[in-house]
Amino acid sequence: MKRWLLLILLCLPTVQAVAANDIQSVRVWPSPDKTRIVFDLSAKPDYSYFTLYDSQPYRLVIDFRDTERKASLTNLGEESLLVKKVRTSSPQYANSTRIVIELNSKSQPEVFSLPANETYSDRLVVDLPGESVRRTGPAKSVDELKERVVTVAIDAGHGGDDPGSIGPSGTYEKHVVLKIAQALATQINNDPGMQAYLVRTGDYYLTPDSRPEKAREAKADLFISIHADAFTSPGPNGASVWVLSKRRANSEIGRWLETREKHSELLGGAAEILQGNDSESYLARTLLDMSMDNSMAGGYNVANEIIDEMKRITRMHKSKPQAASFAVLKSPDIPSILVETGFISNPREEKNLLSRNHQNKLASAIYNGVRRYFVQNPIDGTYFAKHRSTRHIVKSGESLSILAQRYNTSISAIKSHNNLQSTVLKIGQVLEIPAS
Ligand SMILES: [Zn+2]
Repeated sequence: MKRWLLLILLCLPTVQAVAANDIQSVRVWPSPDKTRIVFDLSAKPDYSYFTLYDSQPYRLVIDFRDTERKASLTNLGEESLLVKKVRTSSPQYANSTRIVIELNSKSQPEVFSLPANETYSDRLVVDLPGESVRRTGPAKSVDELKERVVTVAIDAGHGGDDPGSIGPSGTYEKHVVLKIAQALATQINNDPGMQAYLVRTGDYYLTPDSRPEKAREAKADLFISIHADAFTSPGPNGASVWVLSKRRANSEIGRWLETREKHSELLGGAAEILQGNDSESYLARTLLDMSMDNSMAGGYNVANEIIDEMKRITRMHKSKPQAASFAVLKSPDIPSILVETGFISNPREEKNLLSRNHQNKLASAIYNGVRRYFVQNPIDGTYFAKHRSTRHIVKSGESLSILAQRYNTSISAIKSHNNLQSTVLKIGQVLEIPAS
C-alpha cells in the first residue's frame, strides 16, 4: 500500500505536465496546384490558426492547444515551391505548440481535421493552394511543334499517401520510380524525335484512373507506367514488363461504347455513326476493335524491345511481356505498358534501385527500347517517319566505317541514331542506318 502511494505521488507531477495530444509526425505533399501538410496526432486536435501576410516572410501560424511536438521539422517543405520552412515558435499557452509555416507566396489556407481510420491516426490537414512543383517540361501540343514528335507519357507509380511497396531497409517505391521516370524523361527530351510528358512530377497521389486520362489529354502516343515489384519473401528478383490484357481492353471498350461523350474523343468524325442504328454501331465497334488491336500490338512490341534492352543490365523476372489487368493499363487506344524495374523487397535489388547509376541504366534501357520501336514503326508525319532508316544486322568483319561507306552516311550519324556509346560492333547487333 505504501509503495503504491509512493508511486502515485512520484507520477503525479509528470502526469500533470503531459499534454493531452502529440504531434507524432508531419508530412508535406507538394503537387502541381497545392501543397498539403499533414500533422499526424495522437488525438483529435484543438487548434486555431492565422496568417501573417503583411510582411515577409509570409507566415501561417497554427496553435495546437494542450499538445506536445514529438515530430522533427527538419528539411520539411524542401520539395515544395510554396513552402519555405516549417518551424516552431514560442507558444501562446503553456503545454501548447505553435507551428509556423513560412511561405514563398501568399496562399489562402484550408485547415481541417480528419478522424483516425484504419491506416492513420487523427490528423490536421493544411491545404495551401498554389503551384508547388515545377512543371517539368510540359508536352507541347502538335500545333506548337515545328515538327511532329512522338509524345511518351511516363507515369511514376504511387505517390503522396501511397508509398507503394516498401523495401527491407525502408525504401519507398514511390521515390525510386519517380527518380527513374525523371531520368527517362530527360533522355527522351534530349531525343530530336520524342518528347516526354511526366504524369506525376512530385510526391503526391494520383488515382490509377486519372493517370491514363492525363496521358490522353497530353495526346500521348505511348504510356509507360514505372513501378517496382514486391513479394512477401526477400527471394524473388528481376524486372518484368506488362501489357494490357485483351480481356481488360475489351471490357474497357464495352464501357466506352456505353458513354456517349467518349465516342467523339475516340473516333473523331465517326462518332456521329454511333448515334445511328444497330448496324452502324456495329461499325463503330469494329473501328474501336481495330484501334485496340493496333495499340495492343504496339504495346506488345514496345514491351519486347524494352525487355531486349533491360536484360543487358538487370536480371529479368519474366523474359516475355506479361498481360495483366492493372488499373493504369486501361487505354485500348494508346499502347500502354507497365515496367516493374525490379523487386524492392529483395535487399540487393532495393540497393540497386536506390543507386543513381542503376536508375540511369534502367532509364536508358527503357529509352533505347522505346526509340527502336518508333524507328521501326514510325507514326505518320513524325520525325521518325521523315528520317526513315534501314535495318542492318552486323555481320563478321563489318565496322562502323564500312557501314557508313556502304550506306552513304557518316559514322557519327549511325552512332547518334542508335545511341551507341562505343564504336565497337558485335556480330548480330541490330542497327538502324539513317537515310543519307
Ligand atoms: Zn507499384
